Amino acid sequence: MCGIIGYVGDREAAPVLLEGLRRLEYRGYDSAGLAVLEEDGSLCVHKRAGKLDELARALQGAPPRGNLGIGHTRWATHGRPTDANAHPVADCSGRVLVVHNGIIENYRTLKEWLQGRGHRFATETDTEVIAHLVEEGLANGQALPEATRAAVSRLQGANAVLVVSSQWPQGLVAARLGNAGGVVVGLGQGECLVASDLPALLPYTRRVIFLSGGEMAQVSRDGVCIYTLSGQPVSRQPVEVPYDPLSVAKGPYKHFMLKEMMEQPECVLDTLRGRVDFESMRVELEDVDLPREVLSRLRRVVLVGMGTSYHAALVGRHYMETIARLPAEAENASEFRYRDPLVGPDTLVVAVTQSGETVDTLAAMEEARSKGCTLAAVCNVIGSQASRLADCVVYTRCGLEVGVCSTKTFTASLVVLYLLACYLAQARGTQPPEVLAGLLSPLARLPYLLGELTERAEEYERLAHLFYRFGNFLYLGRGIQYPIALEGALKLKEVSYIHAEGYPAGEMKHGPIALIDQDMPVVAIAVRDHLYDKMRNNLEQVKAREGRLIVLASEGDEEMARLADHVVGVPEAPPLLLPVLTAVPLQFFAYYIALRRGCDVDQPRNLAKTVTVE
Ligand code: GLU
Repeated sequence: MCGIIGYVGDREAAPVLLEGLRRLEYRGYDSAGLAVLEEDGSLCVHKRAGKLDELARALQGAPPRGNLGIGHTRWATHGRPTDANAHPVADCSGRVLVVHNGIIENYRTLKEWLQGRGHRFATETDTEVIAHLVEEGLANGQALPEATRAAVSRLQGANAVLVVSSQWPQGLVAARLGNAGGVVVGLGQGECLVASDLPALLPYTRRVIFLSGGEMAQVSRDGVCIYTLSGQPVSRQPVEVPYDPLSVAKGPYKHFMLKEMMEQPECVLDTLRGRVDFESMRVELEDVDLPREVLSRLRRVVLVGMGTSYHAALVGRHYMETIARLPAEAENASEFRYRDPLVGPDTLVVAVTQSGETVDTLAAMEEARSKGCTLAAVCNVIGSQASRLADCVVYTRCGLEVGVCSTKTFTASLVVLYLLACYLAQARGTQPPEVLAGLLSPLARLPYLLGELTERAEEYERLAHLFYRFGNFLYLGRGIQYPIALEGALKLKEVSYIHAEGYPAGEMKHGPIALIDQDMPVVAIAVRDHLYDKMRNNLEQVKAREGRLIVLASEGDEEMARLADHVVGVPEAPPLLLPVLTAVPLQFFAYYIALRRGCDVDQPRNLAKTVTVE
């Protein structure tokens, strides 16, 4: 969702920026703005809440004239979608302008610090701290690139930032922090552009450079200079994007599956945007407006889905019980639809379906509808059948998922289910505001933590190379991690055609333990939660039978490091959010094993993306 664009060259910047924003429109937004450095050396800003047309109308008649500028479409996370809060956002002097996508986790501390130094804030956004921090640097005699580097080094979270200043008329400074929010630089003849995504650049150039997390770019009409946050120069050759629309969509990645796994920090950020007000600590789901009488008559939740969506439903069940305090169960939609389930007007049926067209899930929804249930849908495709059938829908904002095996829509579905559970708790008053705040605030960090995981692709690749020859795998998890064990096993089956089973670890002694030997690697999820000790005991039992153990453990867990043959570190997070993180290394593991075995990861044999037949 939302996007940033910057231009420096010989053309009039305003039309280029506006056109770029149009090409980023598919990402969604609630307001838009742009700024151009005019000939008299001042920055002219236009910004409007609402559609891009509002902005275009505001520009008619007197578009700002100049060859350097930045533009933005915003999805509010901090501060309402008003004209004032739209980006670009300025410092006190109006000489620094910033556009930004993301969430600055420590903005409160920074804002207090800046206010203490006399800075006055004109917006309610977290973004504004960047402009004032840059202003501090300029006041200390730093040039814009230096001042921006110092400023963004103080930000926590996953963020993409673009800065201009009338003090530095030669160009733009861009930064990408963490892995959410793409930043790609386009190199033209005597002109350069910066954008969140390729479509905005392609009318001007096909030579592009993608920034990685923790990198910055100094962009002028003559080219780009890339360096790290610590100031180390980075040498990176531009890549030539071919004119095949699918390859364009694939960006720098070899496969859609890889691209889509890599997009997870951004998808989760997009899925959160505008839905959690981190100021008031409330959830606002735009398409969920259940009448009071429906909310008060709910007694239970039944979540239905197929395949990966069913696994998301299994995690969702924990959310509904723990957060919304509603008895919940998750069921395979193809079973639910045929067993005359005892559901009725007191039941909320939540259908999880990426495409919104999965035939069994649609039939389960019809069945639930005929019995008077309230229907909610969690899906990724706007206007799909499921979204039309449901009383309310919460979209995962992942963009198109091309890889047949679902990755980004899985993690985003978990986030949506979490939000839905928080919404129910809030609307039904089943959790006090301080508990709700405690549940919501860690969401701000989630995109960043996902970025930490996606950055470690090479580690997963090395691990996959050690294991790609095995013919069977066992995946173990407990509690909320059990569905992730199922999902990990499913990914491996889907893309590498290796037989894999997911089990609740407690079940092991009741059968599967008989399978354990040197030829049956065990992938266990043993992150720190209330079942950690139980999990460790199960893993001791595996070790005692000479099983090979790959363990997903909380970072720095030395006990697991001793016990396991291989440890994959997972950042610390509240246990309810850990499934969003633990899913990621398992997806990469399956992907790299499949690659090594020469499988077609994007279109595995016998599988279809949308299952519209029974
Ligand atoms: N957090 C910023 C805001 O609320 C940026 C949101 C975005 O990514 O569009 O203004």
